[in-house]
Amino acid sequence: MTLAIAEARPAAKPAEKDTTVGNYFVSNYPPFSFWKPERVPEVAAALGRAPAPGTKLGLYLHIPFCRKRCHFCYFKVYTDKDSTAIKGYLELALQELELYAKQPFIGGRKPQFVYFGGGTPSYLSESQLQHLADRMKAILSWDEAEEVTFECEPGTLTDHKLKVIREIGVTRLSLGVENFSDHILEINGRAHRSREIRRAYHFARELEFPQINIDLIAGMVEETEENWRDCVRQTIELAPDSVTIYQMEVPYNTHIYQEMKAQGRLVAPVADWQTKRGWVRYAFAELEQAGYTVASGYTVVKDSKRTHFVYRDSLWQGADLIGLGVASFSHVGGTHFQNEHDFEPYVARLREGRLPLYRALTPTDEERLIRELALQFKLGRISRAYFQQKFGVDVLTRFAEPVARLKSQGALEVEGDWLRLTREGLLEVDKLVHEFFLPEHRTARYA
Ligand code: SF4
Repeated sequence: MTLAIAEARPAAKPAEKDTTVGNYFVSNYPPFSFWKPERVPEVAAALGRAPAPGTKLGLYLHIPFCRKRCHFCYFKVYTDKDSTAIKGYLELALQELELYAKQPFIGGRKPQFVYFGGGTPSYLSESQLQHLADRMKAILSWDEAEEVTFECEPGTLTDHKLKVIREIGVTRLSLGVENFSDHILEINGRAHRSREIRRAYHFARELEFPQINIDLIAGMVEETEENWRDCVRQTIELAPDSVTIYQMEVPYNTHIYQEMKAQGRLVAPVADWQTKRGWVRYAFAELEQAGYTVASGYTVVKDSKRTHFVYRDSLWQGADLIGLGVASFSHVGGTHFQNEHDFEPYVARLREGRLPLYRALTPTDEERLIRELALQFKLGRISRAYFQQKFGVDVLTRFAEPVARLKSQGALEVEGDWLRLTREGLLEVDKLVHEFFLPEHRTARYA
């Protein structure tokens, strides 16, 4: 496949609004480049301590297999593993869970939320899924989980597989639709096509999943305004419980970046940030018109009383998370850590009977405060009382300078207990939250 950048031209200096290479989305703090292998010993101490009272526990499993690698994908995924390798991987992830389940940090807790992410969890066969869920529940029961999320690529779903996914206890089905145009899907390397989206969505509705989410990406290669408007129209027509919209970013380890490099290009062949923000602004407005409520910088929900996202909200308030699988991220008792991010070392560590840990960091109290502040700002507002009670800090005083700056830019308003982002602020929240970072973290690359 050749992207829409086939002609070699000299690299022009990018404008600020241009989409250049790098990660935009802020998913944790301090940045991952500050997590170090030499800090892995801190993990053993965290696993050996009883949990602080009231700390929630979650479980994440990374399924790193996909039918094809999308050209914008920066996740750790494999398209060449056969069923023996997949089966072996699942057994090792179960072994990893067994290692965690024996540790004192569990403290008798059961997971409050479970997340199957990837990669493509729906790439697994029905029998693999059934076996995986049975064994996971036997090791650490999730019978009390409030939410079990499962990410799907529409083209991998059959009615029978969806039935199994429902039966193992999935409550939140997340469909990676990304776009409804077959041309855009194809040119961006997606494996599914639009007819598969509709078929999978209708099967899932018949099975009465409590929540169906649709993921879209604004600004894929060759996307036009007309196409985007059509995607929003088709989404509203399907009427999912929630819609998540990402603005296209082009990290280093993507196929798109490889082509840019080969062509000597500095600007990615996708819409600029101003255009992508405009498309999300349009989508939010149309979805609001259709009765949805904006719940974060990326999501709208049809019924805000009924539709929650426990995984996101718990993690953004400091819940513990056991992350299983290659490259997965965990958090236990104040220590963050990541697994080996390549298949072979991940497998080798577990075969030796050891946890496959790669790098770790135990943030200071101030860094923990900034982490929660940055992540909760993505919901559009933060509560002063929450931070006063949890960290003993008045965020208005501690962050007086960035607050004043963002207010003067029209991005932030202060209303009683709440520091609230305006809609324009919310649309570029991942950029704005850098204002609150410690100086040494502001220029760090997110990778
Ligand atoms: S389906 Fe998702 S995880 Fe798999 S290659 Fe595409 S973007 Fe990456």
